[in-house]
Amino acid sequence: MESKTQIYPVAIVGGGLAGLCAAIHLQKEGKQVILFEKKQYPFHRVCGEYVSNETRKYLKKIGLNLDELGVQEIQKFQFTSPSGGSLTSPLDLGGFGISRYTLDNELYKLALASGVDCRVNTEVEQITFEKNLFKIQTSHSNDPIQAQYVIGSYGKRSKIDVTLNRNHLTRRSPYIGIKYHINYDYPKDLISLHNFENGYCGISAIEDNKYCLCYLTTRENLRKYKNVSEMERNILWKNPHLKKIFLEAEFLYQKPEVINEISFSPKTQVENHILMIGDTAGLITPLCGNGMAMAIHGAKILSELLLKNFDNRTFVERQYQKAWKNNFGFRVWAGRQIQSLFGHPILTEFVLHFFKLFRPALSIFIKATHGKEFS
Ligand SMILES: Cc1cc2nc3c(=O)[nH]c(=O)nc-3n(C[C@H](O)[C@H](O)[C@H](O)COP(=O)(O)OP(=O)(O)OC[C@H]3O[C@@H](n4cnc5c(N)ncnc54)[C@H](O)[C@@H]3O)c2cc1C
Repeated sequence: MESKTQIYPVAIVGGGLAGLCAAIHLQKEGKQVILFEKKQYPFHRVCGEYVSNETRKYLKKIGLNLDELGVQEIQKFQFTSPSGGSLTSPLDLGGFGISRYTLDNELYKLALASGVDCRVNTEVEQITFEKNLFKIQTSHSNDPIQAQYVIGSYGKRSKIDVTLNRNHLTRRSPYIGIKYHINYDYPKDLISLHNFENGYCGISAIEDNKYCLCYLTTRENLRKYKNVSEMERNILWKNPHLKKIFLEAEFLYQKPEVINEISFSPKTQVENHILMIGDTAGLITPLCGNGMAMAIHGAKILSELLLKNFDNRTFVERQYQKAWKNNFGFRVWAGRQIQSLFGHPILTEFVLHFFKLFRPALSIFIKATHGKEFS
């Protein structure tokens, strides 16, 4: 246990990919890190579970052996329209499939082994900054924990955003996300994006011969049909590719993982001196399949900046905001524009025909929403 006067150099709030990678990176370089995660590993979360190969070298560098985890190599991309039209194309950089259940748990084990003080089942309720020091109030103790820096990696939304009064909260978001793991006979090297009215559904292989099926749609779609399975029958099944999967696959969860209020509105990267990474800093639309790469890359950029300039908070904050915008600003914007082309069946049909006629355009679209390999 920490003594009441202990001050941690870095406290990280949220143990998803962004938080865990930053914790391992900083701890390995000699900064004592305390990490708070409100859940207990391992656990499932809504995510398409396709990770861009951009991340491979860095994950290896921080000690993660992907080969031991049975990841699936993914090299091809299929895009289908609501009426069933289909286009398949190679993925230049490609990626791999692995469940978040496994990936996050492996990173958690690495964080523990590196010496990170991991507090699981511990929700951070409030973070205040005074006299150059943070005080972190958790669900577990009345005594706040003190830290010189706080990294916010608590994902898409958290009650901390409310206490910080962050700007993006002023707009409600119509999006919900739903995920299953399934057993199915499907190509292992392919990620498919099946479109339907007001949404799209990704399917790709993960470890243990399983597949992840995950879709984004609107609250309005769900409201119209009252429950998830009725909505799937009436909307998703209109795409014949999806109907076939839903009819033939073995669904492995009792009920799906569901999240709501997924906001793609622009966010701030520094708020009340808290340095935000991953979805807390900005969320790219899921059809890009790049959110996890951005979360991991953001963790690396911030960790390096902190390690080099620990004593200069103003410089770290300024440089980090600049670096985030340079690396991710265009990608996030491009993702929003591309997502606006989907959802309407006729428009999606048109986009598919356009890509069939102008194949290089698809590659340009994919490049616009991805980065380069980093280590
Ligand atoms: C439908 C959908 C499909 C997607 N598919 C893909 C895909 O195929 N490929 C891809 O690269 N990206 C995908 N993404 C995006 C990807 O899931 C995210 O970008 C990624 O998970 C971000 O990681 P993170 O660490 O920022 O946040 P998260 O993984 O959400 O982690 C945040 C953590 O913080 C914890 N937390 C929250 N509040 C508190 C608190 N107050 N105190 C303590 N802990 C707290 C949470 O429990 C959670 O564990 C998808 C997103 C959606 C919505």
